[in-house]
Amino acid sequence: STAIEKVLSGQNIVVVTPTASGKTLCYNLPVLHTILQDPQARALYLFPTKALSQDQMHEIHDLVTQMQADVKVYTFDGDTPQSARKAIRSAGHIVVSNPDMLHQGILPHHTLWIKLFENLKYIVIDEIHHYRGVFGSHLANVIRRLRRICEFYGSNPQFICCSATIANPKNLAEKLIEAPVELIDENGAPSGEKHFIFYNPPVVNAELGIRASSVKESQKIAQRFLAHGIQTIIFARSRNRVEILTKYLQESVRRHQNVAGRVKSYRGGYLPQERRAIEKGLRNGEILGVVSTNALELGIDIGQLRACVMSGYPGTIASTWQQAGRAGRKVDASIAVLVASSSPLDQYIINHPEFFFQRDPESAMIDPNNLLIMMSHIKCAAFELPFTESEKFGYGDFVVDATPDILEYLQEKGVLHFADGKWHWMAETYPAEAVSLRSASTENVVIIDRTAEERVIGEIDYVTAPLYVHQDAIYMHGTETYHVDRFDWQRKKAYVHQVESDYYTDAQVKSNLKVLDVFKHEETRAGGKAYGEVSVTTVPTMYKKIKFRTHENVGWGPIELPELELQTTAYWVEFDADTREKLAMSQDELGEALKGVANVLGHVAPVFIMADPGDIISLPMVRSPFTDLPTVYIYERYPGGVGLTQKLFQAHSDMIRAAIDLIQRCGCETGCPSCVGPPLEVGERGKEAALQLLMQEGG
Ligand SMILES: [Zn+2]
Repeated sequence: STAIEKVLSGQNIVVVTPTASGKTLCYNLPVLHTILQDPQARALYLFPTKALSQDQMHEIHDLVTQMQADVKVYTFDGDTPQSARKAIRSAGHIVVSNPDMLHQGILPHHTLWIKLFENLKYIVIDEIHHYRGVFGSHLANVIRRLRRICEFYGSNPQFICCSATIANPKNLAEKLIEAPVELIDENGAPSGEKHFIFYNPPVVNAELGIRASSVKESQKIAQRFLAHGIQTIIFARSRNRVEILTKYLQESVRRHQNVAGRVKSYRGGYLPQERRAIEKGLRNGEILGVVSTNALELGIDIGQLRACVMSGYPGTIASTWQQAGRAGRKVDASIAVLVASSSPLDQYIINHPEFFFQRDPESAMIDPNNLLIMMSHIKCAAFELPFTESEKFGYGDFVVDATPDILEYLQEKGVLHFADGKWHWMAETYPAEAVSLRSASTENVVIIDRTAEERVIGEIDYVTAPLYVHQDAIYMHGTETYHVDRFDWQRKKAYVHQVESDYYTDAQVKSNLKVLDVFKHEETRAGGKAYGEVSVTTVPTMYKKIKFRTHENVGWGPIELPELELQTTAYWVEFDADTREKLAMSQDELGEALKGVANVLGHVAPVFIMADPGDIISLPMVRSPFTDLPTVYIYERYPGGVGLTQKLFQAHSDMIRAAIDLIQRCGCETGCPSCVGPPLEVGERGKEAALQLLMQEGG
């Protein structure tokens, strides 16, 4: 009720609720109230995915029917038929959409949406915790464009945002909409008893420090729940792991009559109808077990399950809470089990439960002024409405002071044209089409099955495609395995055919890094720390064939694909000549020590920033051409970076201490996957050497 009062008094708000209960009323009630009083009033709802907007449609339709109100609610997304679009534009009181559609389908055609923009009273942004990193930085720019269009049509809408539990909901909301926001924290939904278990698989080889596979242990735990008819969700970190776990689970429950055939896999890259069917099966209980990537950690309605098994630490505290939150009932007890893998990050978390339970969920970070991202949206904005001479893009503290310079640059490029005091769009292309909000790459690779009749079975993003659908890769989808016959990178197509494979493939990548610019450099005890702009080239070189179940290496093959270049930001630690002298290490030992330090830092770093382990990559160089010193780089995977490396620079000392602590606590003798890496990778003295090196910096 506080939420509703605040909204009706004209304030922007962000509502934090741990579950869906009651959340939607916070925006539906004030919106409906306003529309009933003023039938001209309009509202725009934004959800991160189509699936979420569909859920929302049902709920608001029910509400409108109950109230017997004449309020028209429509979904407007990629699936909306052309014939229906005109009616939605003119008559829809509430338009339910997503950021991508707003960006490509609504803003560029604002002249067709005059009714909406002239009368827009509310903009609802649900699930804002999803808008971090690249996606969030894009959304902030889309909102800038939206506000700009509203100003043009003379409206000044209010924002209602909703978030799951994160450390900085108010700050994130204010960064997204660039205006003051009131925080309303309603963490108090009633719930049944809940158990949270941290499980570290037993050590099976003490000398090498190898633990039982987290995949197999997760399977065993999930299998027990399923055998007792307990609806269970299993989260795995990668799409490959999801498919492997599903395969194992389906085989292991085959003899349980009531469970066989009721375990499914779920991840991005499946076709929409396939995903909808699984969501429905979970809601009505037909599906008993689902193995998923983090695609299901978001608010998609699958009902409340009783058990959640996380195969590997999800990467951030916020994600872990969200995944664990999938299990939870109003009355019954529920359980969440975190099964640690042998990665250093997992081992750090599982050995420091206090770190997890006492720390606030991470801050969600966005960088609306990331040059690449902002520039694309200035182009889109110029297409929508010409910029005036004194106009600046953005609002409040984040307003882009460099707007005139950027516009001038775009004129030089022949994209804009200055006339009568305004910058006009003059290129023939349509800028929004070339900009995807979801990741750095603008397109996906389509996966085509040619076993029988040609059919599309899924998609994969352009950047990771070389790792998963290179020629001769085994592509896993649902219960099936496919052989990749040809990967056509130019046309973004991968042709596959179904095979019975007893192995899967794992691609290896080679990288090189060049420093382009140093933003900040400081001396430290053992040398220095810095962050700046870098260029990284990567090329997949070969793949390994890994046998299902035993996980033994049964062969390899080459991958022949061109290099990918990435301009991004990196943080680095360098070790000076004094340090090297003190340690008296040979070149080889130093190389091994650096590999160990890079492994540990790369795995500990995500703990200190709101990042997925996959968002950053560490790279050791025995003699970096730039620093001329032994250096460990950690770079961001997204073009331009989103500010993670600056945070790493600030967290430097804490990270070094955490890395030392992790190595010292690890029970292995000479290095293992849980600390610096196995001796095969870092050498027999790798663990000792890495520790010595780190002690020089922060011991
Ligand atoms: Zn170890």
